[in-house]
Amino acid sequence: MADLTIKGATIVTPAGARRADVAARDGTICAVQPDLEAVGTVIDGSGLLVLPGMVDTHVHLMDPGPTEREDFPTGTAAAAARGVTTIVEHTHAHPIREAADLTDKLRYLDGRSHVDFGLAAHVWPDRIDRLDALWAGGITFFKVFTCTTHGVPGIGASHLLETLRTVAGFGGVCLVHCEDELITAAAEKALKEAGRTDNGVVIEWRNREAEEAAIALVATLVRMTGASATIAHVSTPEAARLVTEARAAGADLSVEACPQYFVLREDEILEEGSLRKFTPPARIRSDVESRTMFDLLGDGTFSHVASDHAPSTREQKMASDIWEAPFGLPGLDSTFLWLLDAALSGSIPLEKVVELYSEAPARRFGLYPRKGRLGEGADADFVLVDPSSEFELSDSSVISKAGWSPYSGRRYRGRVVATYLRGREIARDGSPHAERAGAFVPGPGWSR
Ligand SMILES: [Zn+2]
Repeated sequence: MADLTIKGATIVTPAGARRADVAARDGTICAVQPDLEAVGTVIDGSGLLVLPGMVDTHVHLMDPGPTEREDFPTGTAAAAARGVTTIVEHTHAHPIREAADLTDKLRYLDGRSHVDFGLAAHVWPDRIDRLDALWAGGITFFKVFTCTTHGVPGIGASHLLETLRTVAGFGGVCLVHCEDELITAAAEKALKEAGRTDNGVVIEWRNREAEEAAIALVATLVRMTGASATIAHVSTPEAARLVTEARAAGADLSVEACPQYFVLREDEILEEGSLRKFTPPARIRSDVESRTMFDLLGDGTFSHVASDHAPSTREQKMASDIWEAPFGLPGLDSTFLWLLDAALSGSIPLEKVVELYSEAPARRFGLYPRKGRLGEGADADFVLVDPSSEFELSDSSVISKAGWSPYSGRRYRGRVVATYLRGREIARDGSPHAERAGAFVPGPGWSR
């Protein structure tokens, strides 16, 4: 079962691209080299690229939770169709805050996922003493908000210090959403007192100062506690460089890149309103700034790519005013397409796709070497790509329950031909198969 050989393809790893066959037995890669003797089903890879399956470590599937926005079957179907074979999920409206929540969610998710998944826990101010048990239960990372957002309480400086000390104590890692609580709250109050309800409030409310102030605090405390943390969705070159400086001073920090900060422009918020409401908001204003972001993606300033998939339908986005509209964008349908196109268009080397959206996140969050690797002994998760084709994203091709994308109408170089999870084909030509074979992948602290 699940034995297969891909013949005649070009494999892409962080070391570069080369011709090799890939063979898998019982869901595990057993050989990667030219002219292999075939085992199981033989797939003709002529003219195609084989990449390890993508690993998206920042995903919200609202399940259990507000499943009218998204759920595991649809969200992971989108992942499968677009080359993502492992996700790390967390839902703000139904957080995992203690070990019993994890047990309940795992039971509920049985049979609901098309791809393998890890789960992240939320840090809650009055439950910092539960983090240890969550880590042992197999949590991938701990999500921290520095400001109260999406109904999740902000973790102030003293709780942040306690959290980082605690997580450093057992070798865990945090993903931190950085916006300063006092700055965003004061901006919100002033804007509301002025009676503002125009789209521009998003930019002024979730301002650059709030993001950089929070990053500076987190970076300082990460360095002083010896903790490991990733700064989520860094929105500007200035914010990314702030993290680079802290890293140079000895802080174990990584920097997450999301496509929306490379592609979407600040002025789109004024025109599109809720359909561009996410936070931190889009900030780039010119092609030059977009190119600077790509330079930082290529030079290692950004550590890895994630989608921050947090969809709502158009109707849900437009149902209320700009203040009340839900934050977030669909991303699983488009993130791999975007990164692949960036490589095939020459903005970044092809091997960077594998490094940024597969190997680096898998390493950072303890899923490597089982995930994020096209090599012997790794799970047989891979994606077959036709680099000579193009794909135009449209709302009708969006598989997420969102049913739309801010990138609809864009043409991408490269097309996902098929996706494999532990040796089974889970999607072909943009269509996920019905079977849901995804399983829980415990984090590195798992002890059971
Ligand atoms: Zn998020």
